[in-house]
Amino acid sequence: MTTELSPDALSGLLDRARQDYQDLAGLGLSLDLTRGKPAPEQLDLSEDLLSLPGGRHTSAGGVDVRNYGGLQGLPELREIFAGVLQVPAGQLLAAGNSSLELMHDCLVHALLSVVPGAESRWVDQERIAFLCPVPGYDRHFALCERFGIDMIPVPMTADGPDMETVERLVAEDPAIKGIWCVPKYSNPDGVCYSDATVARLAAMSTAAPDFRIFWDNAYAAHHLTDEPVEIADLLGACAEAGNPDRAFVFGSTSKITAAGAGVAFFGSSPANLQWLLGNNAKRSIGPDKVNQLRHVMFLRDADGVRAHMERQRALLQPKFEVVARILDAELGGTGLATWTSPKGGYFVTLEVPDGCAKEVVRRAAEAGIVLTPAGATHPYGDDPRDAVIRIAPSYPGLAELEQAIAGLTVCVRLVGYEQRAR
Ligand code: PMP
Repeated sequence: MTTELSPDALSGLLDRARQDYQDLAGLGLSLDLTRGKPAPEQLDLSEDLLSLPGGRHTSAGGVDVRNYGGLQGLPELREIFAGVLQVPAGQLLAAGNSSLELMHDCLVHALLSVVPGAESRWVDQERIAFLCPVPGYDRHFALCERFGIDMIPVPMTADGPDMETVERLVAEDPAIKGIWCVPKYSNPDGVCYSDATVARLAAMSTAAPDFRIFWDNAYAAHHLTDEPVEIADLLGACAEAGNPDRAFVFGSTSKITAAGAGVAFFGSSPANLQWLLGNNAKRSIGPDKVNQLRHVMFLRDADGVRAHMERQRALLQPKFEVVARILDAELGGTGLATWTSPKGGYFVTLEVPDGCAKEVVRRAAEAGIVLTPAGATHPYGDDPRDAVIRIAPSYPGLAELEQAIAGLTVCVRLVGYEQRAR
């Protein structure tokens, strides 16, 4: 990432960066790029949900959705999402509004009750560990920390996690019970897993007989270009490879309809589904089927989901273009940063010189631009290179976003040139 500069040239660039930073701080900004939240206009796209089901209270199968029951969720909603999530509708569960909640519950149930194929409960084992491709999603890592599950970072490549490392680690260590994967438009680097990666994950030998892939397909339908990425079907590949119980698939409509009032899904083998349904039966007498029915009426079918996601894209794509344009104009050719150009999802990853990410985030905060804490993309909040910054462009309006990204580039120049001058 280094570009050779004469001392004079460097001092000129540093002076300009300092001046720009002073000007930036003088603006008194208050901007937030921390979380991948949908903007109000995106939520408005699903406004009709709020007036549905409009007095209707029976499902296609004649079930009164207001009542208890139906633990697996409405079949017609599962049909709509079967293709999106690559899980047969019969092996899909439609639940409450949060897939993170389902991931949490799967961990708790695996700790406290024997998962199919396991010899004992995870909590009865001396040590449990998960592989964590990095950079990754901080809330996955927070779940591991919460339950005392050791985290082992694995580097990401353009095709997904570095499979040689993954295969070696899972083959030798029976304490490794799982891996976190965001297989499409990954949070935060936008990576899409190649077919070869999916095949290797499905077929690899694991020392733990109860190894699980937590396949968090949060951005399955969230394209930003005319070339929607399709990934290979993990659940099918696991079954074919003779490891039918290996995959836990998760997804939700949080970034399709309403982040706080959508529907979440779990998909897996028949044995895993029965395991989760059995455990859920102790926890609930049935999900919110009124919300599920209104999602069926609003989205109608898989084409309805695609059309809706095109409307989402129309709002989001210009924001990603703003980020790319400003990063390119302000940091291109400086040797101070590289960044991702995702084809979907919610994030751009900015890499700054080693040892600079925390300082860039601190300077930005001082100038009124709040970013996701540096390190959040790594287990225990520790990015050993201190280089990765996650940008979440969805929530601010275009004008605010422009200001925030332009301000961020000032901070990168300031911190980067200061480091070089030392
Ligand atoms: N997984 C990933 C990878 C995410 O980025 C997010 C939201 N930022 C979630 C899960 C949260 O999903 P839900 O709203 O369904 O709990």
